[in-house]
Amino acid sequence: MIGGGLAGLAAGVALAESGWRVRLFEQRPFLGGRATSYVLPDGEHVDNCQHVTLGCCTNLDDFYRRVGSANKIKFFDRLLFLDPQGRRGEMQAGMLPAPFHMTGSFAKFAPLTLKDKFSIARAMLAILRSSGHPRDLDEASAISMLEWLRRQRQTKGAIERFWRVVLVSALDEELDKTDARYGIDVFWKAFLSNRSGYRMGVPIVPLAELYDGCKRAIEAKGGEVQLRCPVRGIHIDDGAITAVKFDSDREESANAYIFAVPHTTFAEILPPEIRRAEPAFRNLQNLKDAPITGVHFWFDREVTSEPFITLLDTTTQWVFNKTALYGPAVNGENGKNKTKGQYLQLVISASYDLLQKPRQEIIDLCLKEVRQALPAARDANLVKATVIKEATATFSPEPGVDRWRPKQETSIRKLFLAGDWTATGWPATMEGAVRSGYLAAEAVQRAGGTPQTFLRPDLGADGLVTLWA
Ligand SMILES: Cc1cc2nc3c(=O)[nH]c(=O)nc-3n(C[C@H](O)[C@H](O)[C@H](O)COP(=O)(O)OP(=O)(O)OC[C@H]3O[C@@H](n4cnc5c(N)ncnc54)[C@H](O)[C@@H]3O)c2cc1C
Repeated sequence: MIGGGLAGLAAGVALAESGWRVRLFEQRPFLGGRATSYVLPDGEHVDNCQHVTLGCCTNLDDFYRRVGSANKIKFFDRLLFLDPQGRRGEMQAGMLPAPFHMTGSFAKFAPLTLKDKFSIARAMLAILRSSGHPRDLDEASAISMLEWLRRQRQTKGAIERFWRVVLVSALDEELDKTDARYGIDVFWKAFLSNRSGYRMGVPIVPLAELYDGCKRAIEAKGGEVQLRCPVRGIHIDDGAITAVKFDSDREESANAYIFAVPHTTFAEILPPEIRRAEPAFRNLQNLKDAPITGVHFWFDREVTSEPFITLLDTTTQWVFNKTALYGPAVNGENGKNKTKGQYLQLVISASYDLLQKPRQEIIDLCLKEVRQALPAARDANLVKATVIKEATATFSPEPGVDRWRPKQETSIRKLFLAGDWTATGWPATMEGAVRSGYLAAEAVQRAGGTPQTFLRPDLGADGLVTLWA
């Protein structure tokens, strides 16, 4: 295994459990890749960026169970939205069966007008009637989500205060640059086909602590995890990979090799003639990046009791109350984070406009928005703040992007790929990364002549949806 992000860990743990002696090489001193955390010089534990999962992420859930981390994710049934005028909206399943489980909270959703709601209901019906696959998705050239919403005659309010709010966070891209297939899938899998797909799971520990069990699982089967161990190149002989190269002329050989590194890194590691000759590798250069910016605020007092809030019509999209989310083990007297007061983490997906802005300007902008949304923050002092810009957070799910995503099995014998950017049918998410790892592990098992299934099925339809889905 080359790469100790979620994709590499998922493949490594699955194969170790199947009896392989897995050797995992990770270039950094810790595991988790993009979904990890680290310690600031003052001892504060911060996530690279807040990460959340949803009830419909069945493979990530399976992975957390395998490595003993499922109890470190807390699921919430209620999503809270707040606009600058102070109007609140909630999304929460009520008594009715799917697909009507959200009807009650949707009817009361104050930031949307009646006209917005009717137009949203019309589009939802189109998704429902087609079981998540409207005919527009079969057109020869893929259409954007914005184009599909226009065809569904969505109001400006519905687009800005509903579709955009949910999808930019879920897919890290603006609606005009998102393949409609991905956008529609989010609503089908998370909000329509069953009652629990939308439930939001938030880690209650710093992200790096979710992977403690991975090393143990691999070592328990005779394998090993080597950190600070970047792979620099590969040997290919007669159409098969024969070794990976490290610093100081070190080389290692194996029966199978899974590369679970970012696609740009994999392209650099490949010998140039192979990268140019093989379309699946050549196409990697067509994958574009999308940014996410995380803003961390430490206030001298509590400014909200909500675990998380979505802000409407502002640059800041989500506010996570890290103090409330982290358990006493993190915050308590002897906990890791000793700051008194309250720690909030703000998330801004598809944050193209912020990439060039100075950090102080971003802090000032977000602080103003937080103080507007949370009256208690107006008198509170900001003790410290930090901004983490991830320019290459995810690949952009632009229309037709799937044609650039390679399968986990490659044309080079014994060489397999994993990573959220490989062909999983899912966008760049932790669920997508784990799926890619499981698919790579399945490909290795197949090549070894002992096929095995690791991939978990999607959440099934429930309620009235079972009548036609
Ligand atoms: C800011 C941000 C916020 C996000 N929020 C969410 C969210 O809320 N929910 C969600 O589901 N997803 C979210 N994501 C996406 C999610 O983090 C990724 O989809 C997922 O972690 C990708 O995992 P991966 O294993 O495919 O890749 P990576 O995590 O990138 O792992 C690749 C690993 O390979 C290692 N590596 C690189 N080069 C080498 C080399 N030469 N030799 C050895 N090792 C090497 C890297 O150090 C890394 O550990 C977010 C991403 C970012 C950046």
